[in-house]
Amino acid sequence: MSTQFPDIPREKSAELFAKAKEYFPGGVNSPVRAFKSVYGTPLFIERGDQSKIWDADNNEFIDFCCSWGPLILGHNNAEVREAVTTQLNKGLSFGAPTRLENELADLILSNNSFIDKIRFVSSGTEAVMSAIRLARGFTKRDKIVKFEGCYHGHSDSLLVKAGSGLVTFGETSSAGVPKAFADETIVIALDDKDALDRVFSDFKNQIAAVIIEGIPANNGLLLQEKEYIDYLRAVTKANGTLLIFDEVITGFRLGFEGAAKYYGIQPDIITYGKIIGGGMPVGAYGASNEIMSNISPDGAVYQAGTLSGNPVAMAAGIAALSILSEPGFYEEQEEKTKSFINELRSYIKEKGYDVQVFTIGSIFWIAFTDQKKITRADQIDPKSMEKYKIMHKELLNRGVYFGPSGYEVGFISQAHTTDDLQKSLQALKEALDIVFK
Ligand SMILES: *Cc1c(COP(=O)(O)O)cnc(C)c1O
Repeated sequence: MSTQFPDIPREKSAELFAKAKEYFPGGVNSPVRAFKSVYGTPLFIERGDQSKIWDADNNEFIDFCCSWGPLILGHNNAEVREAVTTQLNKGLSFGAPTRLENELADLILSNNSFIDKIRFVSSGTEAVMSAIRLARGFTKRDKIVKFEGCYHGHSDSLLVKAGSGLVTFGETSSAGVPKAFADETIVIALDDKDALDRVFSDFKNQIAAVIIEGIPANNGLLLQEKEYIDYLRAVTKANGTLLIFDEVITGFRLGFEGAAKYYGIQPDIITYGKIIGGGMPVGAYGASNEIMSNISPDGAVYQAGTLSGNPVAMAAGIAALSILSEPGFYEEQEEKTKSFINELRSYIKEKGYDVQVFTIGSIFWIAFTDQKKITRADQIDPKSMEKYKIMHKELLNRGVYFGPSGYEVGFISQAHTTDDLQKSLQALKEALDIVFK
């Protein structure tokens, strides 16, 4: 029988949060950090090392959020730290090209057969926003199609959710997005070939691009059948529509060639972020030479950035990706994740809990449901998030940090040791016992 643990001390974090609320809307600089979907005030993190983080009250946690994905090497990786420190001594930014941009591009392009050229930006949002503009400029069409349950950052065109009923026009999912923008974005359900067919017959020759997360992992982990993605590739091609794979999470998480390689599909444009900067703010988009030749200064699609290709960020990216490019890196992460998940699954099965654990590569998602397969956003029951809240609290109290929302996936890094994973499993088992008590 597991019993609830006493709550961890949060006095210092609570104090910092009270102060932060005077400075920032909601006390944060990115909304999910506010802990609105879980118990308690947000934890203010002081430092991280390998698999662990410490908060302002000096509570120690094994971290499965990993800065929402970038930290595939864990915290304070020695090589990344070293590379950043070396560059710090040479200058922070020049607004001129540097050798480091070539180096990171070479690492990426020589290990990726799906893109010929790349452009660095400073975030995933910026990468996707630029990719959409490129697709529109290249096809000379305006409409884009996105999927319910896929997140692509916070640019206007993509803050759109499905309209009600059979209407495929999107509704804005944020105030401040002009209706005219939302009208250019069509939102459909994942894993629905009929919806795709309908969109292409309703908007013949008007759709510039269809954008999909390589593996949708921002609203649960919605693993898609290869057959569906093949179909998506075929219809987009037949209609002269570009297929954009948003690999901001999956890029360098499932390997250097990400979801494109996983499905064996050639997308027209691929976006990156998160891991690519080794923990520093970097995003990128890439495509064939033909498509990329449309970007300024070669072509008519304008896109620029004062801090793009920032040398410190490039140095971090080079150091991180060099480690990832070593033979066996991804196999090892996947093996480690598999055995962790398998052990968790067998406990869940033994207890008969209505919980599924979905996983790919070193990503996992714990879903409180009896459905064995979830491919669409509307298959997630919002009420199940109450159970996640309880689990989240029990995990924190046992020194395990998960993202503060049940829609978020967990990440396992190279720095997670067998010991970390065993301790976390024990905590998870106890937390689940309490959820289902
Ligand atoms: C995180 C994410 C983004 C946005 O990246 P930011 O760096 O937060 O702007 C876009 N697309 C996907 C798939 C993401 O996971």
